[in-house]
Amino acid sequence: MPYLRKNIADMAGYVPGFQPPNEAEWVKLNTNENPYPPSPKVIEAVRQATGDNLRKYPDAASIEGRRAAADLYGYPVDWVIMANGSDELLNNLIRACAGEGEEIAYLHPSYSYYATLAQVQGATVRTYLLTEDREIVGFPERYSGKLFFLTNPNAPLGLNWSPDEVAALADRCDGLLVVDEAYADFAESNCLELVKIKPNVVVTRTLSKSYSLAGMRLGLAIARPEIIAALDKIRDHYNLDRLAQTAVAAALRDQEYFGECVARIRDTRCWFTDELIRIGYSVLPSSANYLFVSPPDRNGQRIYDALYQRKILVRYFSDPTLAHGVRISIGTREEMETTLTILLEIG
Ligand code: PMP
Repeated sequence: MPYLRKNIADMAGYVPGFQPPNEAEWVKLNTNENPYPPSPKVIEAVRQATGDNLRKYPDAASIEGRRAAADLYGYPVDWVIMANGSDELLNNLIRACAGEGEEIAYLHPSYSYYATLAQVQGATVRTYLLTEDREIVGFPERYSGKLFFLTNPNAPLGLNWSPDEVAALADRCDGLLVVDEAYADFAESNCLELVKIKPNVVVTRTLSKSYSLAGMRLGLAIARPEIIAALDKIRDHYNLDRLAQTAVAAALRDQEYFGECVARIRDTRCWFTDELIRIGYSVLPSSANYLFVSPPDRNGQRIYDALYQRKILVRYFSDPTLAHGVRISIGTREEMETTLTILLEIG
């Protein structure tokens, strides 16, 4: 293909979690979606916003969403940006900071999409091995790459770093430390406050998980105004459509509903962890809405296949650091009871 840039021709492309065609027939615990519906206030606001005005462009700055996030997190509006999913922010942070031949890094295992996004820009990628004891193997006293992505809580392991630990990492980075907090709403701590005190820390969030809005594609970042201004220059100018803008403001403003859903998922996570340990599984302590679990024979593929046969989808990674287990998203209590029964059956 003579038309393509070499790095595009050479790259493999990211493979997202499997979305089965007949969704209703499956217990779907493979992509960390929320088992509960979005807030009724979000549904109602989106319904109201669906009409004649869809012929007009949306607000280019998504200002209502920015205001709602700024109020919620206690930041001035110019420290906030909205995005079409947090993936858009990860992409634009790389576009803003890492040019061709410059380096970005992240932990392995974590969210490998950072590598795909870097490859598109012709940036180089380094990974540091993360052990199940939360050790980051070989991380240098000073990391001189342009960006370091810390998925916190880690996906797929669920492990969490405290703000103090992240602050210490930020001090070792010459470039930006991007704390990808896709799952932080399920954790006991987060790094939002660090953005105020560490000039090189950026926090990204998504509404896909804790706000049940994966289908709407909504994300946001909190960072210094100079970084937000740079991200504003390079994003698509109408990156959030009208319905998404309505949804994000309504979702962030309904903290009561949000809090109930998150609490339920954390309760179920706790119960499911105890039950799995009781039947002989090893389970990593999770601060997210999934568990990384390993059966006594440490054969993740066997568990994946057996659950798949019974129409339960979980995530198996063939990578040698992860093949001994599977990642199971936390669904409703009923879904997790069904899963537990089958895990007991298959031994
Ligand atoms: N970061 C992590 C760690 C994720 O698991 C995901 C979801 N796959 C994202 C970011 C992207 O989330 P979204 O684009 O749906 O906001």
